[in-house]
Amino acid sequence: MLEIKDLRFRYSRRSSLVLDGANLELKDGEIGILLGRNGSGKTTLFKTILGIEKPQGGQIRFDGEDLLRMSRRERARRIAYVPQDIQFGALSVYDTILAGRLSYFGLQPGEEDGAVTRRILREMQLEDLADRSVEELSGGERQKIAIARALAQEPRMLVFDEPTGNLDIANEQLILSEARRVAREKGISILTSLHDLNQALELGDRFFFMKNGQIRYAGGPEAMTEDVIGEIFDAQVRIVEIEGKRVIINGGKE
Ligand code: ADP
Repeated sequence: MLEIKDLRFRYSRRSSLVLDGANLELKDGEIGILLGRNGSGKTTLFKTILGIEKPQGGQIRFDGEDLLRMSRRERARRIAYVPQDIQFGALSVYDTILAGRLSYFGLQPGEEDGAVTRRILREMQLEDLADRSVEELSGGERQKIAIARALAQEPRMLVFDEPTGNLDIANEQLILSEARRVAREKGISILTSLHDLNQALELGDRFFFMKNGQIRYAGGPEAMTEDVIGEIFDAQVRIVEIEGKRVIINGGKE
């Protein structure tokens, strides 16, 4: 379980707090989605969880252990980052995934590293692509490889910043279903940000509504209300039901 308490962060001494007492809890196997306007602090929150930025106050715990005091390697066993695009030159798909293990654990590839890589290729139905160069693949395939590469760390949690940002709708669906599979079948929790509120509703178990560096509301799908969205995004929306599903549409009541 990830627990964030009263997290405070500013980029420099003179700037204002970008994280201003943020609190968040995410259980194993849950998909949590950070929602908020541009500049609300989502990426910064991810950076503190990943150890890229050091907060000036507050706590981040994983299964009760202090994530902020862990070495890079200890953290990598718990949390892996899925970048929006992987750029590693002309490596094969196999080597790209294998490199996900080595870049954190810093060893010569051993038998287990190969075995983990092959298992991930199989589970993600990527075996046919194993020898292809990542550079030749489509955006959706590359994003899938980025997930595979993160899974090679055998983490307990994945962090994605805007996983569907550059993808067309078919690839979006591919990545969302892959994220769901990882959470459901492997019990790996996922923390991600999404711009599209309907995609968020489809994917998420928990929603964290962020504004001015704070998580203002948190909860299951019931937390996604017209009022909450209105306050967080300064935008008017309506929530309607279509074929038994709640759908968020632009615009206020007539
Ligand atoms: P979001 O991901 O929600 O769009 P960010 O975490 O990227 O928000 O940004 C939050 C705030 O921090 C913004 O006001 C942004 O301008 C500021 N910020 C982000 N990165 C830096 C940086 N490297 N240095 C200084 N300020 C930054």
